[in-house]
Amino acid sequence: MPPAIRPVLAIHGGAGTVPRETMTAEREDAFHAGLRQALRAGHAVLKDGGAALDAVTKAVMALEDDPLFNAGRGAVFTADGKIEMDAAVMDGRDRRAGAVAGICGPRHPVLAARAVMEQTDHVLLAGPGARRFCRQAGLEHRPLSWFRTEFRWRALQEELERRRLGLADDGDEARKHGTVGAVACDARGNLAAVTSTGGMTAKMPGRVGDSPLPGAGTWADDASCAVSATGHGEFFIRCAVGHEVASRIRWLKQTLDDAANAVVMEELAAIGGSGGLIAVDPGGHVTMPFNCAGMYRGFVAADGSLHTAIYREPFRLERV
Ligand code: ASP
Repeated sequence: MPPAIRPVLAIHGGAGTVPRETMTAEREDAFHAGLRQALRAGHAVLKDGGAALDAVTKAVMALEDDPLFNAGRGAVFTADGKIEMDAAVMDGRDRRAGAVAGICGPRHPVLAARAVMEQTDHVLLAGPGARRFCRQAGLEHRPLSWFRTEFRWRALQEELERRRLGLADDGDEARKHGTVGAVACDARGNLAAVTSTGGMTAKMPGRVGDSPLPGAGTWADDASCAVSATGHGEFFIRCAVGHEVASRIRWLKQTLDDAANAVVMEELAAIGGSGGLIAVDPGGHVTMPFNCAGMYRGFVAADGSLHTAIYREPFRLERV
């Protein structure tokens, strides 16, 4: 009999971290608590022998409900003050994928992506058709006021003012973006990935980032790895980040760690793309490289302990 695989789960809450200098201890604790809650939600599925696909869905649902993160509740605003969310899910068993772009309504965009995967013949639905489908699929909906947070509204005003004055980008990643995502390997060695985002603050209406694009911000294939990315989406699309990590593993025979690091630190950085990714492989290895100041992130270790971090610092550990 093959040795039992220890299920693993990793999550991120985006590479758009609050600058170290302006982060308060309370806010930092709140981010760690939000990450831990999502890890617990996803791990509960894996611990009971559940599928990677369900674990990543549950973890991301928790992050979408947490207003601290740019997905679901707490999503950023477009240049015209609206919210347009993107999400994707991918099942590593057969590379089935589902995604939505430019939606606002479903409480959990990840469930909209899953509904596309499970109930249609398509991979990606966008705009009004996607919104109609979400209603027809019976997904729980919330009004705009549910998603709106003062922090994100202020961030939009600041960004618009910065542009009006023609000021240079001040590099405040927290104001500009964020995203949530999860990757998992279950006890059967099956992989899955989810990414969900409000996109980038003051984006053009209609802009779609890397998150809902299989092969860019989201990828899962049991033959190589599962990836969820976060960062300046246009660059991630141009690098086909998720697929690139998988290709390096399949064709160059690189380790998960080497492949992910090469893509984030070399390929992305070479064209000026800032951000990071989380990834797992069928052996249960986890990697979380980023080329910017920080990335909200966490994983559940084989013994069930929860590890969370924001900047380049040792992980905070919560034993179970
Ligand atoms: N990648 C996301 C996007 O471009 C944003 C982010 O991850 O911060 O929409």
